Amino acid sequence: MARPRKSRILASLLFISVILLSFSAEASTASGAGYANPTPPGVIVPAPTSFHTYDSLMSEIMQLSAAYPDLVTNVTIGTTWENRSIVALRMTMPGNSSAKENVLFMGLHHADEWMSMEVVMYLVHYFLANAKTTPEIRAILEKANVWFIPMVNPDGYEYSRLHDSLWRKNRRNNGDGTFGVDLNRNYGYEWKTGGFAADGSLIVSSSIEYPGPSSFSEPETQVIRDFALANPLVFSISYHTAGEWILFPWSYTPAPTTADGVFRAYSQEMASTNGYRLLQEGHSSHNKPGNSDDWLYHALGTLAFTFEVGPGYSSQDEQQIAGVTLANVMSAVHGAELSLGLIQLSCTPQLLLCVPELSVASLAVPGLFGAVFFGLRMRRRRENRLNRLGPGASGYSDEIVEHSRTVGRGST
Ligand SMILES: [Zn+2]
Repeated sequence: MARPRKSRILASLLFISVILLSFSAEASTASGAGYANPTPPGVIVPAPTSFHTYDSLMSEIMQLSAAYPDLVTNVTIGTTWENRSIVALRMTMPGNSSAKENVLFMGLHHADEWMSMEVVMYLVHYFLANAKTTPEIRAILEKANVWFIPMVNPDGYEYSRLHDSLWRKNRRNNGDGTFGVDLNRNYGYEWKTGGFAADGSLIVSSSIEYPGPSSFSEPETQVIRDFALANPLVFSISYHTAGEWILFPWSYTPAPTTADGVFRAYSQEMASTNGYRLLQEGHSSHNKPGNSDDWLYHALGTLAFTFEVGPGYSSQDEQQIAGVTLANVMSAVHGAELSLGLIQLSCTPQLLLCVPELSVASLAVPGLFGAVFFGLRMRRRRENRLNRLGPGASGYSDEIVEHSRTVGRGST
């Protein structure tokens, strides 16, 4: 009879495909998704030895746009409660900028997370020094407007720098003797939902995570919203500190986004250059609705990531600026390259696990049966990977506690 024979052939093909897959998947793991060397190409620029002030940051940005008018434009995109400017720096190769994609690197939503600003400014200097001479950077700038907003919360930063190094929020006068809104709880998607307000402690105005009187109540978040709507972003990283994590939506819920595989695949490729751990942020200690990633992804489909840069206790340690900033260049470069189609993922997110394209092709032969077993194997591997990289075993909430003891008393 033909039927059993057909089954045997199918079984044989399946066996071969699993062997091939197994070999390829192990190879993928062994090679660390393909980027073993975290050292950026081209010119390595020096890092500052002390943290910028608001004034020194502003004057540096003005100097750069004056010195490199063909590459750099600075735009004041908004004004804070205390009348400080929020400035965006755009870098792109000369050409039709309106036809280009937009990529954003931003820092310092949280006032005490000083290192996050330095990472963005270091990226500015690195991109500028390599714009014309390093092919990878030139290609990014030919295809995209790369935007840098190093200081989303200048009022809070100056207050943290001059008066209270643990200050986290902006400087809204809440009118009841308290000040400040947590800007990364004030964005307008699922604001204050998902149990965040359950026991009331987080939503009182004195809370370090006070989400504000309404969504987008703050000039700083309105500015980022309006900027993003005017310049729809394909990719963004919001830098925070600390603990060495790459986080992605959703944050308001443990449920995954429909792009979960893509977020994980990007995260893995970026993490392969800085060694950071990955986490969907909704799996952290408590849900955090109203953050920038959730809103950007929801409103614009932006592949929006949060990086918690630097080891614990490093957020305000000037001796760590050079190490932390340099370690985060290649992850930013690869994220931008991926989102612009300049390089391809070395994995296939639709199949739940990063595996080389070749092994997927080999599985096309046995067809449906193979695909079913392939899926089972993928799922098992994904669980293993989650155990290693994801929630639960990750220690992410420990990082928040550590963070709270040093600088921040809060979380992302
Ligand atoms: Zn933060």
